[in-house]
Amino acid sequence: MFFADYHTHSNFSSDSQTPMEQNIQHAIKLGLKEIAVTDHIDFDYPDLDYPFMFDYADYRKQVDYLKEKYSNQIKIIIGVEIGLQPHVYPLILNLVKSNYYDFIIGSTHCVNKLDLCNDIFFDGKTKHDAYVNYFNDVLGNIKNCPVFNVYGHIDFINRYGNYIDKTMNYEEFAFITDEILKALIEKGKGIEINTSGFRYGLGHTHPQLPLVKRYKQLGGEIITVGSDAHVSSDITRDFETAYKMLKSAGFNFITTFQNQKPSFVKINI
Ligand SMILES: [Zn+2]
Ligand SMILES: [Zn+2]
Repeated sequence: MFFADYHTHSNFSSDSQTPMEQNIQHAIKLGLKEIAVTDHIDFDYPDLDYPFMFDYADYRKQVDYLKEKYSNQIKIIIGVEIGLQPHVYPLILNLVKSNYYDFIIGSTHCVNKLDLCNDIFFDGKTKHDAYVNYFNDVLGNIKNCPVFNVYGHIDFINRYGNYIDKTMNYEEFAFITDEILKALIEKGKGIEINTSGFRYGLGHTHPQLPLVKRYKQLGGEIITVGSDAHVSSDITRDFETAYKMLKSAGFNFITTFQNQKPSFVKINI
């Protein structure tokens, strides 16, 4: 049995139709002790069909209602997944200053104002250049907008792009991923183990074992585990593999958050 899923989406996210209550009920059925609702806020998202915005008051009202209704069965953590882009830092700072969240995932979904799902970002770039461009952007976000608790799916650039071989050779990118991990640790930030890579057919979590091991080696301690579910049935999917991977990287604890303060829970698998 798993303790918590720290990355879930409901119909407060433009790319999910799942009622939040359905996720909560499913999580209870799975025996989870905690679930973090982390719907998307992505200021100035380039694809206008997906505005990735929601009204905080409505969100809060829904979370508070479910917290109360299911208080004997599960702990609900109010979170958010914020899309980080340099030109919207002021909006992000204002968002986190004005609203209460227990837990914040910071993610890169767009680089150079281009959606990574879209091939335009990759056009004319070698795989090496595209991945370095992405990682440089991540590093800038950590240094200049560290409003989050964990960085989301930190190596997921290998999910996109039209390259025949999208695999990431960690040696090749260590010069920049090391800087990223050091910056995270210095600022007391964590990474998440995101299991959606399996659903994208990549056969691994984001990030993969070498990065997780390196985070540990450099002194990192904060790890959340999330499915990135957009439908209830994906909650905790592939967690067993993720937990085993964490243990093989030397982690015996996962992290939970309340009021953005970390607590550590032993992995018992
Ligand atoms: Zn994301
Ligand atoms: Zn997500």
